[in-house]
Amino acid sequence: MSPQLVCADCATPADSSRWMWRCDSCGGPLEFAEEPELTEIVSLGEPETPILELDFAGIRVSAKLEGALPTGSFKDRGSRFVVTALRQAGVDRAVIDSSGNAGASLAAYCARAGIRCDVYAPSGASRAKLAQMECFGAEIKEISGSREDVATAAQAAAKSSAYAAHGWSPWFLLGTASFASELRRQLGRAPDAVVMPVGAGTLLLGIARGFQKLKSSEARRPRLYGVQSAACSPLVDAFRAGEDDVHPVTVRPTAAEGIKIARPPRGRQILAAVRGSGGELVTVTDEELWAALHELSANGIFVEPTSAVAFAALKQLPLDSLQSVVVPVTATGLKAVDTIVGAMGR
Ligand SMILES: [Zn+2]
Repeated sequence: MSPQLVCADCATPADSSRWMWRCDSCGGPLEFAEEPELTEIVSLGEPETPILELDFAGIRVSAKLEGALPTGSFKDRGSRFVVTALRQAGVDRAVIDSSGNAGASLAAYCARAGIRCDVYAPSGASRAKLAQMECFGAEIKEISGSREDVATAAQAAAKSSAYAAHGWSPWFLLGTASFASELRRQLGRAPDAVVMPVGAGTLLLGIARGFQKLKSSEARRPRLYGVQSAACSPLVDAFRAGEDDVHPVTVRPTAAEGIKIARPPRGRQILAAVRGSGGELVTVTDEELWAALHELSANGIFVEPTSAVAFAALKQLPLDSLQSVVVPVTATGLKAVDTIVGAMGR
């Protein structure tokens, strides 16, 4: 039997007899009434991701290299749980919208589980990510228009298949929560702060929940800092205005394609999690992003532009007095070779 889901906004219980991705009453995101125990989790042999200590912008940081996961991004943490749930629900066809990493990841785990996968991607998405999806057997539909137009097209297709977008799925957050317990094990304690890129906020929310769960054994929880591109910053705008929810914004071009999300479905929860942790939401420009990407490269760390935003923000955050600052390197640079090569003028 499927676990009971309820609406995070209006608390209406979801119909557990079918695959639901949002509240039928108000359109809000769903949560578990009680956290489910999953068995027989779909796996592609995920390792514990390594931690590398480095000095960056005068700050000692622990970079956690999520590019070491099977498809090269942190999305694998969530996808394995989403696909486990799809398989348990008897779903034979899933659909997702994605700028690339989430689609590549879901396609891989669907391939492993024998589930057909359709990915709606914005036209001009990274060729490396599209190549992954295609190799994993996903059917790719490139949609022109905004990122929201892509989501709308995927949701329309979800009438005949199960919509499994990471920004909506409570299962995905069960998976990203593993970042917190893994980090706690590796460091021997909770860090003082975690600084990360934030678009749909699924890593940030997973980390917040993971540390919440560990709280009984750990008095301290880290401050959570989310970094957005100045070209698309609905969360930062709402944070600075003291608002509880996001308003959609006009999006300008940015190399940080993975966080170009004008209206994150769980915006309300992200704002509450950051405020509750004593952290902050800030923006960086593409110029700052590229400077950070090159400085990381000079340290032997190859990241995609979206991942570089967290490092680009370090010097504007109040981290000086902290002993332990963790930055998830959300994906490898191999994911965005075309963008990186383009920026190098080659
Ligand atoms: Zn609702």
